[in-house]
Order: sequence, then structure tokens, then C-alpha cells
Amino acid sequence: MTVELVCVGTEILLGNIVNTNAAYLAEQCAMLGLSCYHQSVVGDNEQRMEETIRRAVSRSDIVILSGGLGPTKDDLTKEVTARVFDMELLEDPHTRARIQEYFDQNHRGQITENNWKQAQVPEGAMVIDNYNGTAPGLILQKDGKTAILLPGPPNELKPMFERDIRPFLNRLEPEGIYSKMVKICGFGESKVESMITDILESQTNPTIAPYAKTGEVHLRITAKAINEETADEMMEPMMEELYRRFGSQIFTTEEAVTLEETIVELLKEKGKTVTTAESCTGGLVAGRLLNVPGASSIYMEGYITYSNEAKEKLLGVSHVTLEQYGAVSKETACEMAEGAAKAAGADLAISVTGIAGPDGGTKEKPVGLVYVGCYADGEARAYEFHFTGNRAKNRESTVAKALTILREALINS
Ligand code: ATP
Ligand code: MG
Repeated sequence: MTVELVCVGTEILLGNIVNTNAAYLAEQCAMLGLSCYHQSVVGDNEQRMEETIRRAVSRSDIVILSGGLGPTKDDLTKEVTARVFDMELLEDPHTRARIQEYFDQNHRGQITENNWKQAQVPEGAMVIDNYNGTAPGLILQKDGKTAILLPGPPNELKPMFERDIRPFLNRLEPEGIYSKMVKICGFGESKVESMITDILESQTNPTIAPYAKTGEVHLRITAKAINEETADEMMEPMMEELYRRFGSQIFTTEEAVTLEETIVELLKEKGKTVTTAESCTGGLVAGRLLNVPGASSIYMEGYITYSNEAKEKLLGVSHVTLEQYGAVSKETACEMAEGAAKAAGADLAISVTGIAGPDGGTKEKPVGLVYVGCYADGEARAYEFHFTGNRAKNRESTVAKALTILREALINS
């Protein structure tokens, strides 16, 4: 079934308020297994609103409208939708009583004449009680088409959707959407895509969609099914196939789990500790690791060594190495990692040295040149990278590489 969203309000068109209702409703409809191909925003103008609603009703099974149900003259959604559905407006005694009750309970003072406008209901429409305001929601159905009218304020719209609209939509479209997230590190987006071209080309149900993140690629697997158990069964063969192709590069299949969480988990499992020695990332690698609750059992101390002096003093990087190869070099990265592991008494160490920019680049060592060192099992190695972003992006990319290298070392140690 197709659903279409129409958000009413000149404030949205002018950018005075952000259309959060559309984001909320779109996400909810997707989870309910409804296909949403169109969304629109229209101001509080009768003619344009009518055009928008007519078009939506003509091309979609269900139209969900938000806003314009209030008591004032510019609140026209109900009137215009009733006209499109060719329904007359009649006073609904139940809604009238509820408005009276709402004013009494909330001490809203005198009810004005225009409040009673909200008790007018298109004939035959289903009235959805509003527990957080006065304007009721409405469901109009005719000739196989459905319009759902919801109040604009999110604190009214969301509870109403959850309580009454979601169950209603669920009855119209009993199948739901269930998804899993396969998160991959160590391969870029194009590499991942090229490894699943055949799956991408033949997908039906479940479907698969890649999303590129800094240093990670996420594959969302989505199945349309009657319940979660059936969806899991449908997704299982695809999950197995992805494990065959990506192996341990898949670090999680849980939407909420991060790369650093899986690293901390691995360290705990193996009973190992880690430290970090950072130059251009200034503690960002440590920051990601220490964001994970319980990281204190795997991380004791770390180092930010920005100057050459600090690299010598805190990590024991040799003066000769710094003179001969420079601070941004494979050699320095290796000595930083080894020195850090020894100084902190840690089993593993990750080091970072590079030129994040915008200044400091030379012909030989341009901005974006980064070395990540890793010390594990008594051996230090370093990896060279060339990033092409701005300072923030280069630092972010470096952190992602550092974490991926740490994870790999940990798996192999
Ligand atoms: P009211 O009875 O408050 O007039 P209404 O149903 O007529 O409600 P609107 O007048 O269109 O709704 O909007 C009222 C308020 O609700 C807006 O000022 C805004 O704060 C919020 N709102 C409306 N539409 C949206 C939207 N699409 N996304 C987020 N907030 C919205
Ligand atoms: Mg209003």
C-alpha cells in the first residue's frame, strides 16, 4: 500500500519551523511496511491546499495530513479535505463534549466560539480523541482512499499516532518492515559494493542497501514480513552469505553497537590492555575508546605527544629517528607505539602521527599524510595513509583507520 504525507503550514514553508512531523511519520510508515513515494508541504492557502490534497489522494492509497486542525480561520485542513472527499461537516456531540471537558480540566478559561469549529466533523469520518489538546484527529475513507488528519503540534501528533493511528494502519497493511545492520570495517564503500554487486542486482525481499560512514560501511538488510520471526528467517541466508564474503571484517550486526564497543569487548575477552600515543589526532582515538562504558579495565593511561620533545620525553622516541626521518614517518610511528606500550605497561598500543592541515604540508609530506603505528605481540608496524579532506575530516578518517588496525591486531594476536 502507498502512503503520502502532506504537512500543512506556512511556517514550514518559510523555514520558521522544522518539519519534524514528516520525518517522524515517514519513519513510522516505513516500519509499518507502507511505501511512501511522495511528501509535500503546503501553506495555509485554500486553493493550493486543495490542489495538493487532490493530487495526493489521486496517486496514493493513504494520505496522512499534519497541521491546520486548530480553531483559527487559517486552520483549513479539515474543511478542504472534507470537500475533496465530498463529505459534509456536521457537529459531533462526542467531540463537543470532549472540548468542554478539556477546557474544564485544564482551566483554559472561557471557550470561544471558534473552539466549537473543532467539533465539526466530516460525515462518516472516524474521530480520534486527542488526549493532549482539543483538535481531534480524523480518518476519512471513501472509494478505497483514506485520509488521516492529525494535529500539527508534535506532542499531540505523536501520542495520537502511537495510540490509534499505528494500529489502524497495521490493520490496513499487516506486513511490517524488519531490518538488520551489517557493519563492516577495513573496506571502502566501492570495494564493498563490488563484492555484493550480484546481491544488489537481484534483491527483492529482503533488500540490501549500503551506507558509507567514515572508515565503515553499513549494509542495511530489510525484510517485509508478517512478524519478526519470519523476517529473521528470510534474512538468514543473506546474512550467511555476507559472512562468507566479509568474514571478520563484519564487526557487528547490531544497529546500536559501535566499532569501539566491539574493540573493548575483544580486549576484555582476551584479557589484554591497550594504550594510545597521538599526535595529529590529539586524543581522539583515546576518546572513542573511552566513550565505551567499562573501558577502564582495558585502558590505564595514554599520551598526547604533539611536539618532538614530548615524543622523546614521554615515549622515548629517539632523537636520531626524529632528525633523520621526521616526526611524520613510519619510523617515528613505530617508535611511538612501542614506547607507549612500554611506558604504560600495556599489551597493545596504537600511535598516530600525521599532517592534518591546513598548514604544515610540504611537497614530500603533503597535508593528509598520516602514519598509524601498532604495537602488538612484541612487534611494531606502521601503515601509511593519504587523506584528502579538511583538518576535521582527516582527523576523523585517521581515528577510524587507527581503530580498524587495532581491531585487526587484536583478532590476530
Ligand atoms: P493548533 O491547534 O495548535 O493550531 P494545528 O493542528 O492547527 O494545531 P498548526 O497550526 O499547523 O497545527 O501548527 C501548530 C504548531 O505545531 C506549529 O506552530 C508548530 O510548532 C507545530 N507544527 C506544526 N506542523 C509541524 C510539523 N510539520 N513539524 C513540526 N512541528 C509542527
Ligand atoms: Mg493551527
